[in-house]
Amino acid sequence: MDEVTQIFGENVFNETVMKSRLPKETFKQLMKTIEGGEKLNPEVAVVVANAMKDWAVEKGATHFTHWFQPLTGITAEKHDSFIQPIEGGKVIMEFSGKELVQGEPDASSFPSGGIRATFEARGYTAWDPTSYAFIKDGTLCIPTAFCSYTGEALDKKTPLLRSMQAISKQAVRVLHLFDGNEDVTSVKTTVGPEQEYFLIDKSVYDKREDLIYTGRTLFGAKAPKGQELEDHYFGMIKPRVQAFMKDLNRELWKLGILAKTEHNEVAPAQHELAPIFSTTNLACDHNQLTMELMKKTAAKHGMVCLLHEKPFAGVNGSGKHNNWSISTDTGKNLLDPGATPESNAQFLLFLCAVIKAVDEYQDLLRISVASAGNDHRLGANEAPPAIISIFLGDELSSILDSIEKGIPYGKHEKEKMKIGVTVLPEFNKDTTDRNRTSPFAFTGNKFEFRMLGSNESIACANVFLNTAVAEELSQFADVLEKAEDFNGVLHDLILKTIKEHKRIIFNGNGYDDSWVKEAEKRGLLNLRSTPEALPHILDEKNIKLFEKFGVYSKVELTSRFEIHNENYSKIINIEAETMLEMAKKDILPAASKYANKLAETIGLKKSVCSECDASYESEMLKKVSALTSVIYSKTENLESQVVEARKTADSSDSSKTAFFYREHVFAAMNELRTAADELETITPKELWPFPSYGDLLFSVK
Ligand code: ADP
Ligand code: MG
Repeated sequence: MDEVTQIFGENVFNETVMKSRLPKETFKQLMKTIEGGEKLNPEVAVVVANAMKDWAVEKGATHFTHWFQPLTGITAEKHDSFIQPIEGGKVIMEFSGKELVQGEPDASSFPSGGIRATFEARGYTAWDPTSYAFIKDGTLCIPTAFCSYTGEALDKKTPLLRSMQAISKQAVRVLHLFDGNEDVTSVKTTVGPEQEYFLIDKSVYDKREDLIYTGRTLFGAKAPKGQELEDHYFGMIKPRVQAFMKDLNRELWKLGILAKTEHNEVAPAQHELAPIFSTTNLACDHNQLTMELMKKTAAKHGMVCLLHEKPFAGVNGSGKHNNWSISTDTGKNLLDPGATPESNAQFLLFLCAVIKAVDEYQDLLRISVASAGNDHRLGANEAPPAIISIFLGDELSSILDSIEKGIPYGKHEKEKMKIGVTVLPEFNKDTTDRNRTSPFAFTGNKFEFRMLGSNESIACANVFLNTAVAEELSQFADVLEKAEDFNGVLHDLILKTIKEHKRIIFNGNGYDDSWVKEAEKRGLLNLRSTPEALPHILDEKNIKLFEKFGVYSKVELTSRFEIHNENYSKIINIEAETMLEMAKKDILPAASKYANKLAETIGLKKSVCSECDASYESEMLKKVSALTSVIYSKTENLESQVVEARKTADSSDSSKTAFFYREHVFAAMNELRTAADELETITPKELWPFPSYGDLLFSVK
């Protein structure tokens, strides 16, 4: 066997390992839980725990942890060793069924958005057997859900699992109405997230407080060269980056992560990694691990991996394309147009469910990607706009159009299309169609949701998407289950959906200003910033949606609303404080020093040579002094805005505070930055206190 196939999954307690290490009956029972969602018998857990421990200890593990995804958006772990004292001052390695199934981290410091205060409940973690346990840095990690004792989800995984159940149930209802799906018992949503990131040298990173505290540069004049030559995209990968990627791939493969595609991205120092798609909750776990390993591996190579959505102004930021589809347990991709009239009709129905879901829940999709970091991208000319729309491509759009108008489609097709009867005309499923400006694009057999930020967990976007589509499928099933003339009713349903929701379809250029006006005319939402988007999460229709499928209760939704608002305000606050520190301790003193040098030179020149010209120094001194004053006053202004913001934060209205940060603090930050960046362009390199954009973006040779 070659090396890759040998190391792949070596640190994962996967099906092969389970099969070889578990008694036959235990394995069978566990698979029923994993695949069929059956409740796990505690006796089975005891056996599994023991086998897991033996396997982990053989691989050098000494500890175990319940690995979970609290609402901070990253993962959490608290390690316990396997040791158990025995007589004679010795220990043995033990791991009980109870320890596997349930844990009780001291959860009081995780955000709960008021849930814990309301219910006085401690959190507990519960094993998610659908995601395999794995070993990371000598610790056996057990993927778990994190809930309060009163049952509220305190994490990102629980709602994701609930949403997958919801869409599965509704999709199966619909599928059973079509011939040929008798064997289908469940469906799974599949996701392949493409992850963008920046790599810079550790030595330059260490000299930038803004990168250290906030993950992005808060100051920095544009370098003479950015991405304008488009010479980085898909360009030759530098040896140091190549070595990093090689190392990263190995680490990912060992964890059973299907790292597949890697290339340079548009901005200098920007790269991308895409895995082969997998079941959504696995994709979500794997994406978290990928981000973590990117950071760790970069450190081993003397670099820093920046996952922030906008580390540098003036060049592209980083996103995460969430490729999403639905597959049956019989292996059929439901977003793949089929070859027979029935499968065509079925495809069109699922397509319509997505179209209707995206239109009716635009606000939710927008919220699912809202964060302080991502606000720098959405709507700027590099990432999809903040307006949600769907790209279907010209051909599929004209097929829908001819269905709607009841006219023939295509050159050879003489008859009108009759759903369920006519074969869908051959159309070009152009997967290479790169309408990069669309936030939600159909790419042949999947949708690509392109608005996600590079640093965000993919959980929320998929929870919202799954649940919204589940709702539409349930509405469709309600109608179709009662139908006597199935094909007739199906035809009308598809027609009606196209008519009512085609406003969300837009194949044009999403970066164009005219689209903003057009979208407004169509009544589409344009939620420009996080504070503007968040309040919609508590709209009546959204609460109803999530409650209907048991994905979030109102309390859980409210807690997310609070946490996201608070998080937004906290991030802007940290950024503002960092800017103040940099301005006061570094930039203003540097400006003063430069002015002093200039003044000294002018004085010296005059004293030794009265007829010597000092116009350059005098002009610079004037400019530097003027800019210094501006920077000083902008710093003072920012400081007073921060003080004001803190006062607002004392009120209990987290949304109001977030708005204040956006409208006042963030605005003041931008003004300060503009003045400081201008000063940077005229200050000698040795006097400027931080590495420049050029130093950062071209730091990895
Ligand atoms: P592009 O750059 O054109 O968007 P990539 O090859 O970089 O394409 O990424 C495509 C992603 O879509 C991969 O992660 C791939 O596994 C994923 N993908 C392909 N088919 C499906 C599917 N049926 N469901 C979910 N993701 C899919
Ligand atoms: Mg893509």
